[in-house]
Amino acid sequence: MSDVAYEPVIGLEIHVQLATRTKMFCGCELTFGEPPNTRTCPVCLGLPGALPVPNAEAIHYGLMIGMAFGSELAPRSVFHRKNYFYPDLPKGYQISQYDEPLCRGGRLGDVRIHRVHIEEDAAKLVHAGESGRLHGSEASIVDFNRGGTPLAEIVTEPDLRSAEHAADWLRLLRATLRALGVSDVNMEEGSLRCDANVSLRPKGSTELGTKTELKNMNSFRFIERGIKAEIARQEAILRAGGQVEQETLHFDPRTEQLTSLRSKEEAHDYRYFPEPDLPPIEITQEMLDRARAAMPELPADRADRFERELGLNADSARLLAFRTELGDFFEAAIAAGKDGEVKPQAVANWITNELVSRLGADADPAGSNVTPEALAKLVALVGARKVTQNAARQVLDKLVADGGDPERIVEAEGLAAVGGADELAPIVQKALEANPDVVEKLRAGDMKPIGVIVGFVMRETKGRADGAEVNRLVREQLGL
Ligand code: ADP
Ligand code: MG
Ligand code: ZN
Repeated sequence: MSDVAYEPVIGLEIHVQLATRTKMFCGCELTFGEPPNTRTCPVCLGLPGALPVPNAEAIHYGLMIGMAFGSELAPRSVFHRKNYFYPDLPKGYQISQYDEPLCRGGRLGDVRIHRVHIEEDAAKLVHAGESGRLHGSEASIVDFNRGGTPLAEIVTEPDLRSAEHAADWLRLLRATLRALGVSDVNMEEGSLRCDANVSLRPKGSTELGTKTELKNMNSFRFIERGIKAEIARQEAILRAGGQVEQETLHFDPRTEQLTSLRSKEEAHDYRYFPEPDLPPIEITQEMLDRARAAMPELPADRADRFERELGLNADSARLLAFRTELGDFFEAAIAAGKDGEVKPQAVANWITNELVSRLGADADPAGSNVTPEALAKLVALVGARKVTQNAARQVLDKLVADGGDPERIVEAEGLAAVGGADELAPIVQKALEANPDVVEKLRAGDMKPIGVIVGFVMRETKGRADGAEVNRLVREQLGL
């Protein structure tokens, strides 16, 4: 047994289905959930003599991804044949890229990008039991609808250092791709798929250890758990004095088990060679200009702007900027709020804490009953102390349920803050009379039990009292 500390080293390979109208090398439309084998043609079925034609939109999206990473964009990009046999690959090879990918280098956040290349997706195998039609049979069918879907494969450098780091970074990647509009980035539907390469090394070492590859994980949670399980497995091997075998693994999220798919000895030799049916793609200035013009503000830049210009704390800025729909709602609410009436940080807090917890973590507030204007008004009412935080939460419940105008709701429900000294003073007096022991302590300079008085007033006013004002009145009435 050794007691050295180990450092995980992780590199990711991400396959992103590009949201083009048609497939990578043919005119078949891209759809999801259509009946099997209804979106096929001789090209994507690999029939002899059918010739591929590259999809210009896919190249355009690839260039946008490269620009988002600040990659070096190839002046000339070559397609290669990657040869292997599998039933989901009718040609016996996948058209991919090899030594002249579309984009090289670059970075996203704190992770360097190795390369981005364009390729075609394989078809989908549907196994017995997964489909009603095949239930009880041993057979599988091949659904060629997915075959030929354009993919961007993004390969990172091994810059990630923990499972959480990997999951966080993938969230940034997904937000970036979504902002670019190049993919649906829907993990359940498989439009964003991730392989994780994992190795361990003694902390402080700069050499890389032997890595394993976890294949095709399709949710952030599984990726995080899979990497964690693999780190633990490798650490146990190393601590026992053993060696990690280079292999490809499958992580089963139900059992938390890692099983070997293939070892190094079984690794493929893909016999890459240039695709003879496709000339190299010349990346023209016109193509670059078009991609540049289509670039939106990216989530990392948006987060910076939220911090710099609107004074948000880093966590809020990231939360809002990495969820495009939350960021849009936030900006709409800021725009709707009258100048100086709403603090951006307050709006951010109401969205990320209160609104998101009411609508559900993945909901888009634009589709809810709450308008950005209404939220801005509510935050302004709280800011002006016309309603307490507590009462405002009840107003938000109403807004989420039925929509409407916060001021009207406050009026109709009698939720206005009991803030004026006229209204509050008698209630504070009553509270003091009811708690002579507390009054004694307060007079003696022990302010801790003031909470008892505040609590009393809150009960009397059903949470509509302004806590700070109650504090002030207590001191005033006791002459402190
Ligand atoms: P392979 O030839 O096995 O595909 P690559 O060198 O192409 O390996 O790297 C594939 C991915 O694995 C990249 O994301 C890279 O960052 C990552 N990677 C490479 N070596 C290691 C290692 N020792 N530990 C962790 N990740 C690694
Ligand atoms: Mg590889
Ligand atoms: Zn086709």
